[in-house]
Amino acid sequence: MSEYDFDVIIVGAGPAGSTAAHDLAKSGAKVLLLDKEKFPRYKACGGGIPIRTEKMLPFPIDSVIEDSVHLLRVSALGKHSFTRDCGEPFAHMVLRNRFDNLLLEQAQITGAEFRPKTTIQDLKLTKNGVVITAEHFTASSKFLICADGAHSPVGKLAGLGTTLAECAAWEVEIQAKYQDIYPKTSGATALIDIGFQPWGYAWMFPKAEVLSIGIVTPRSQAPKMKKRIQNYLEHLHIADYPIDIAKGHKIRFRRNAEQIAKKRIALIGDAAGLADEFTQEGISYAIHSGKLVAKSLISGENTDPLKNYENAVDQYIQPELNAARLISFMFQGMLHRFQKPWMFATGHAPFLWKSFFEVQRGNSTYDKELKKAGPLGFVANQMLQRNSKYE
Ligand SMILES: Cc1cc2nc3c(=O)[nH]c(=O)nc-3n(C[C@H](O)[C@H](O)[C@H](O)COP(=O)(O)OP(=O)(O)OC[C@H]3O[C@@H](n4cnc5c(N)ncnc54)[C@H](O)[C@@H]3O)c2cc1C
Repeated sequence: MSEYDFDVIIVGAGPAGSTAAHDLAKSGAKVLLLDKEKFPRYKACGGGIPIRTEKMLPFPIDSVIEDSVHLLRVSALGKHSFTRDCGEPFAHMVLRNRFDNLLLEQAQITGAEFRPKTTIQDLKLTKNGVVITAEHFTASSKFLICADGAHSPVGKLAGLGTTLAECAAWEVEIQAKYQDIYPKTSGATALIDIGFQPWGYAWMFPKAEVLSIGIVTPRSQAPKMKKRIQNYLEHLHIADYPIDIAKGHKIRFRRNAEQIAKKRIALIGDAAGLADEFTQEGISYAIHSGKLVAKSLISGENTDPLKNYENAVDQYIQPELNAARLISFMFQGMLHRFQKPWMFATGHAPFLWKSFFEVQRGNSTYDKELKKAGPLGFVANQMLQRNSKYE
């Protein structure tokens, strides 16, 4: 009998935790996956799953796809709107309760044990492992993975992730079908409304029976979010529909190579600030980091596997996050200085949204697309480093 109850305990059964649990259990590790909620559970999210995210998963997600969008309609504070067509879907639309439950089921099929309604309240490092405590429950393991989302209470207990940057987001859901409201559109469309200072956007993402409308802005502008959502609902002519769900949540960003792992404990997904700053999307990085931490643990228990995991994030994920932040800074800079001509130019010149679609479909990366800007990217980076106000 091992001196530990489990090889690995994972706190949080979102996309990051369930992916790590899936890959670890598949390799034969004894894995406990815990969540404070009973599943399926709601998570404030637009539920936009770029095709590149789907490509990372080893099982089909068709059963939870509500719609697949190939059209993107862009406006700037309701004006200068245009529609770009990817020609094929660039993202699937899902409801997070169903999507996350599918990932959890797949982790359980590979052998991970799941314990719902278990809120971790304390953790202790032992000589070679970790002991976690919830109400009426204690368990030990060699390694602890914190996949406990943007608030990351367990990461905080471990002293990790406390200096990550963050922004605010708000989502409302209404029962309505996109085609009923906009019968003239030629296909499934994602809507975004940009133009908030210094950055931020509102979205409308269609699901089979539901519309997800939301907004993401710097944290300092959180008090304005509800009013802005109301304006956006009015602009979309859906302000009269009853709102089923309205919920806010923060999103965190790793900007400065912050420490996300210690000898026995690692942060993954939103807990580690792995969301990009161009779209504020985080599910693909949650899944990617879940895979990287599992791979590091499987391949190197005798080295320093969680240091290897942090290095892998620095090598494979961080360049994307840095590039996305810089692209966002450049895009917003042009938008605010030259709103009308910039909207006209990006609406007509094919390259910008084509690049975006290529990244969304997994055929390119933000890092590769940024390199195409040549010295412009270098100059913008110097400006970004000097601009402490770009939250
Ligand atoms: C409004 C909004 C819209 C978004 N839209 C999109 C989008 O369209 N596309 C996209 O890719 N990303 C989007 N994101 C980001 C995306 O939601 C996250 O990046 C993603 O959920 C991260 O997954 P995760 O597994 O790291 O964390 P989460 O999905 O947050 O899962 C964390 C889990 O940990 C559990 N937990 C927390 N504390 C404890 C505890 N003490 N004990 C036990 N369990 C605990 C929680 O119950 C939860 O189930 C959006 C975010 C917001 C806020």
